[in-house]
Amino acid sequence: MIAIVGTGAGGGLLARELAKSGEEVIIFEKGPYIDSKDAYKYYDEYPKDMDLLSTTCVGGSTIVAMGNMVRALDSELHEFGIDLTEEYEYVEELVGVHELDDSHIGRGTRIFLDAAEELGLDVCKMPKAIREEDCIQCGKCAFGCPVDAKWSAKDFVDEAVEAGATLISEAEVIDVILCNMQACGIRYIKDGQEKILKTDKIVLCAGAIQSAAILKNIGLTGIGRELFFDPFVTVGGYLKDINFNTEVQMAGLVVGKNFVLSPHFSSFIRENIPYEGTEDKDILSIMVKIPDEAKGYVHTDGFVNKTNTITDIRYLAEGVATAGFILKKAGVDPKTIGSTVFRGAHPGGTAPIGKVVDSNLETEIDDLFVCDASVLPVSPGKPPILTILALSKRLADYLKK
Ligand SMILES: Cc1cc2nc3c(=O)[nH]c(=O)nc-3n(C[C@H](O)[C@H](O)[C@H](O)COP(=O)(O)OP(=O)(O)OC[C@H]3O[C@@H](n4cnc5c(N)ncnc54)[C@H](O)[C@@H]3O)c2cc1C
Repeated sequence: MIAIVGTGAGGGLLARELAKSGEEVIIFEKGPYIDSKDAYKYYDEYPKDMDLLSTTCVGGSTIVAMGNMVRALDSELHEFGIDLTEEYEYVEELVGVHELDDSHIGRGTRIFLDAAEELGLDVCKMPKAIREEDCIQCGKCAFGCPVDAKWSAKDFVDEAVEAGATLISEAEVIDVILCNMQACGIRYIKDGQEKILKTDKIVLCAGAIQSAAILKNIGLTGIGRELFFDPFVTVGGYLKDINFNTEVQMAGLVVGKNFVLSPHFSSFIRENIPYEGTEDKDILSIMVKIPDEAKGYVHTDGFVNKTNTITDIRYLAEGVATAGFILKKAGVDPKTIGSTVFRGAHPGGTAPIGKVVDSNLETEIDDLFVCDASVLPVSPGKPPILTILALSKRLADYLKK
């Protein structure tokens, strides 16, 4: 029996692949099984000075993701003998990665794409896993899709259960039981009671913070010392009646040397626009995201510390300056430009390949694997789901063997 802990990007696909191939799979998920449209209620709470975004529910953070799907970290993973070419092809087909049809490219996004092109930037439409035929273009991807038009790992959990896997939701895994340095069981809390289940293999897919906390509790070393979270700000300004806030978000992409930019409305931007009377419908804004230095730390209780380095700030400044040029070209008055605070939505790197897990994602403890953003060796600085899915497919094939 294989136990999978967590149902996000790493856990969902793994459960699907293993269950469909006839393996006995049991899935533990701390959060509840919910409707996608309610996902915004399941954001995690972190200390006030730690602006990190993640959700606890079936599907994990993929349920509030924007459907952005890009390949990342190719050369970094090659260094560990990992070539994901075939896995990428498989998962891209499975989740339906494609550039959105022009019918789903809104006015603000079109202005962003054109302005970036005129400025000579490396710009394209963002590859997405969104079904245009269902999408109502409400701009609410990060709240959870009201019409289920967006892929999330919950889809894979459903398929896994259909194929015979057992899902135990609202069950928090707190420890892995070892028998002579081999993983042999799970300790978890369900309905307020501590329980134990014996298993043959365990794969931690609880996300970079929670997987790290579980690994630390077991006593493994080197865990949670290199947390990154791909920090971002959203920079925007006044453009009367642009109505960008109701467009499909992040449907364009500019790739810079040290940052990526994507058209993005944030519900926190309006209060930062220095122009009186600005309404959400009058804002054009751009997300600036960077690959940060892995200087964060996860404690045994899941408490997180994260500092921003001089290099992080420099990369952000470069990205923000470029976003400012695009906004100006797009017709935004520079005097009206403001920014949200620095936040992170891609925690990773807490059990990196080559340090904590080997290239088959196994820890030094036999039969204990990690398959989520924890294993990424460095910050991708761009959407990581597709890479996590490809790693998950690779692990599924390895475990099937
Ligand atoms: C608003 C937002 C938008 C995003 N948009 C994109 C995007 O468009 N494209 C992209 O590539 N990335 C996006 N991301 C990032 C992406 O969602 C995450 O990087 C990715 O989901 C991480 O996958 P994971 O498997 O590491 O963790 P998760 O997907 O978070 O899954 C972890 C799972 O483990 C469960 N869990 C935690 N602790 C326990 C425990 N103790 N016991 C049992 N279960 C547990 C959690 O509830 C969760 O289901 C976005 C993130 C946010 C917050």
